[in-house]
Amino acid sequence: MTTPESSSAGNFIREIVAQDLKAGKHGGRVVTRFPPEPNGYLHIGHAKSICLNFGIAQDHPGGICHLRFDDTNPTTENMEYVEAIQADVRWLGFDWDNRMFFASDYFEPLYQYAVQLIKKGKAYVDSLSADEIREYRGTLIEPGKDSPYRTRSVEENLDLFQRMRAGEFEDGTHVLRAKIDMASPNVNLRDPVLYRIRHVAHYRAGTKWCIYPTYDYAHPLSDAIERITHSICTLEFEDHRPLYDWVLDHVDVPCHPQQIEFARLNLSHTVMSKRKLLELVEKEHVTGWDDPRLPTLKGLRRRGYTPEAIRAFCEHIGVAKRDAVVEMALLEHFIREDLNRRAPRVMAVLQPLRVVIDNYPEGQVEQLEAVNNPEDPSMGTRKVPFSRVVYIEQEDFREVPPKKFFRLAPGQEVRLRYAYIIKCVGVVKDERTGKVVELHCTYDPETRSGSSQAGRKVKGTLHWVSAAHALEAEARLYDSLLMTDAGDTEEGRDWTTRLNPNSLERVTGCRVEPSLADAKPGSRYQFERQGYFCVDPDSSKDTLVFNRTVPLRDSWAKIEKARQEQ
Ligand code: ATP
Ligand code: MG
Repeated sequence: MTTPESSSAGNFIREIVAQDLKAGKHGGRVVTRFPPEPNGYLHIGHAKSICLNFGIAQDHPGGICHLRFDDTNPTTENMEYVEAIQADVRWLGFDWDNRMFFASDYFEPLYQYAVQLIKKGKAYVDSLSADEIREYRGTLIEPGKDSPYRTRSVEENLDLFQRMRAGEFEDGTHVLRAKIDMASPNVNLRDPVLYRIRHVAHYRAGTKWCIYPTYDYAHPLSDAIERITHSICTLEFEDHRPLYDWVLDHVDVPCHPQQIEFARLNLSHTVMSKRKLLELVEKEHVTGWDDPRLPTLKGLRRRGYTPEAIRAFCEHIGVAKRDAVVEMALLEHFIREDLNRRAPRVMAVLQPLRVVIDNYPEGQVEQLEAVNNPEDPSMGTRKVPFSRVVYIEQEDFREVPPKKFFRLAPGQEVRLRYAYIIKCVGVVKDERTGKVVELHCTYDPETRSGSSQAGRKVKGTLHWVSAAHALEAEARLYDSLLMTDAGDTEEGRDWTTRLNPNSLERVTGCRVEPSLADAKPGSRYQFERQGYFCVDPDSSKDTLVFNRTVPLRDSWAKIEKARQEQ
């Protein structure tokens, strides 16, 4: 199997952490956190952040990574997401060792820190409307101007803030703002809002609060309360770092974590923003959060992805400071690599063509030995029944074979894998449509695989199943979700017009070998010559349903090769 030529990309954050440890910064501790907002399901981009944060903690003896739900927004969060996120982190292979926290548990200390800021003259209650606040903020090229309420006394601010908490005011009538600098070239420092009034119940705190902190205020303090050492986030927060530091510099916190930004993962041919994923689910473009076409961890899992493959992918792409789009083909490369090693081979015919072997004794059944995984002899062998009528793949027969078509054609010979060499001696067509519906063949009894003449050479080997023994199945073949590779980054007006109408092809009437009778949802196989498939939970007693994880062809290796040849 080919591997992408370059070795793993760099990880500058690991280097920073290692240097900090050496220099004795943060008292020799390494504490990171993964801080999802429970307002959606995790996706492969989150996996990058999980691998990074938990990975750094694992790198160092005594290193710790917290799972923190960043749940300060009462309108979009709920317990279903909290539970799904925990399950996904565990599935990826990480454990938070009981260090699970909720920012909503810090509402009281956050309030007290705000009181500290007011007392120091570093925060004030503003009574401008939201529109006015926006107007007063200025632009990237013009400074903002001070609110007329900016000069309120500490006493008045304390009184108003306390009454905001007590529920005396309507939504939108007042906010608490940091008093920093309305002329700062960094817009984030122009007296950012710290608290808003929102008479909305919170999924955990209930109706206890009617003022809620903003992300920019709650995040640095949550980090400090948990004594995080390295607060790793994505690049869009780089301009917020001065505010992160300002908040921590102006209240009495136990420590001052260090914010470090990295480039988020963008994948080609798919979407990753929670808003877009939610839209796909709600408008039923997909069947749910675990639709195998989605880059959610639940979707990838149902598609057949392994945690090992996702972790190897995240390790390989590394961590950089500049945004880039990673090819979906690279992710596919990693699942192929992993499944090549671990997935048992089976024979499955997706589009069956009936083949009668005229000279094979009627009623005879042979149990032929088949290798479970040539990459791993320890996976052993199994028996596959062979009989007079078998199915092969429709595309493995051509009545008029093109040059170098080494599969079956009238008068041509092929080997049936693990079985015999057969020769096509007759073609039966549907009278009306002219479609080939059945082939007649003869077999050479001397050529059974493993026997002394088995070595007789023919150019093609086909997979097949015995008609009398095969099980019925459905195969779901997936193609990319988006047609162009602009990925998530292009802001089209209606991005859903770029959805690939052929992202799912359902093939029914497939036939698979009987060893799959006990296949359980989640089991992964290589269908010989086809690709990797995973049993879907939609499977019933009568029909197994398989999701194609990825076809066999390694388009990534091809891309790499083409690049090397340039
Ligand atoms: P989205 O933009 O998809 O709504 P988010 O950043 O709002 O995602 P959070 O739940 O806040 O989602 O994310 C939790 C953590 O995962 C954050 O630290 C965030 O930076 C990180 N993260 C989210 N998306 C990506 C991504 N594409 N690549 C790397 N890290 C990501
Ligand atoms: Mg976020």
